[in-house]
Amino acid sequence: MPYDRDNIFARILRGELPSKKIYEDEYALAFHDINPLAPVHILVIPKGEYVSFDDFAAKAPTADIAGFFRAVAKTAELLGVAESGYRLIANHGAHAHPEVPHLHVHLLAGRSLGAMLPRSG
Ligand code: AMP
Repeated sequence: MPYDRDNIFARILRGELPSKKIYEDEYALAFHDINPLAPVHILVIPKGEYVSFDDFAAKAPTADIAGFFRAVAKTAELLGVAESGYRLIANHGAHAHPEVPHLHVHLLAGRSLGAMLPRSG
């Protein structure tokens, strides 16, 4: 899938749409999810144009990948959840139902998050 420069997160990165920023550096921007599923629900997105985790892993320079994951960890530290724990989710492809075609990692925390998924066949 080609990258769509008009996706919501590209527009947030360009400052065309607002976001509640937690952290930003040269590699990533972290901001509150507009529809939180946990007491802490943050999205961390890379600054580069990557449709999904799969695209990022295949195409991003190694320094950008390292910088992005360090930004995720820095965000957790700033939120004060590194010790109590958090869950990271990145949806890629049809079975995962992503809504926004710009890589984003969901950082969920602030309470015990329970089982990862209900068991099914
Ligand atoms: P996904 O289903 O993994 O693509 O997740 C997309 C996430 O983006 C959802 O959790 C939405 O609530 C969130 N979202 C959509 N628009 C915005 C926005 N303008 N600001 C913050 N979060 C958003």
